[in-house]
Amino acid sequence: MDLTFKQQHAERMQDKKAQVQAAMARAQVERGIVVLLTGHGKGKTTSAFGMLYRALGHGLRVGVVQFITGTHASGEVTFLQQQGLLGQGARAQVDYHAMATGCSWQRMLADPSLRLVVLDELTFMLQYGYLALSELLQALERRPAGQSVVITGRSAPAPLLALADTVSEIADTRHAFQAGVKAQAGVDF
Ligand code: ATP
Ligand code: MG
Repeated sequence: MDLTFKQQHAERMQDKKAQVQAAMARAQVERGIVVLLTGHGKGKTTSAFGMLYRALGHGLRVGVVQFITGTHASGEVTFLQQQGLLGQGARAQVDYHAMATGCSWQRMLADPSLRLVVLDELTFMLQYGYLALSELLQALERRPAGQSVVITGRSAPAPLLALADTVSEIADTRHAFQAGVKAQAGVDF
């Protein structure tokens, strides 16, 4: 590596840094956001729980509604239970509902003390008509300003995609299951 290359690289990195700093200076709005994690690849629910653990690390109260539960108790929920964080209602650090009825997610989206709400596999409920899209969109729009919501699930409908502030579509490039590898604790649930 000659000196000119090193100098050039250092200058380019300096430019990049200045661009990033300028972009950060422009981002001044403080409000909760809607994050949509969709697509057919692996990583939606685990990403949502990653955000939940972040929020807990900052001492924030969070809510979780899991619309479908698998045959195995998931490691992420079992862990929260073991830590004594899981409960139902206003006194729980993690207000948790599985296979919830409409009232629990609607209550959560109206509760300003919940700074993050995870609605896991929600798109499934929309897809099969167990939940009205218009009702959900209205509740999302009316939620407290400081509350963020993470929605996961395959095949998110277009209006939900349009409403979300951050959308990540995880592609199924490859999954070990297709090669016959059995679902395993700590990886798949
Ligand atoms: P994870 O919970 O691992 O983050 P996910 O929420 O993105 O996955 P789901 O569609 O909810 O994926 O499916 C949950 C289960 O199915 C997990 O055990 C996951 O490993 C598995 N899975 C996810 N994507 C695929 C895929 N493309 N092919 C086969 N199995 C998958
Ligand atoms: Mg999932």
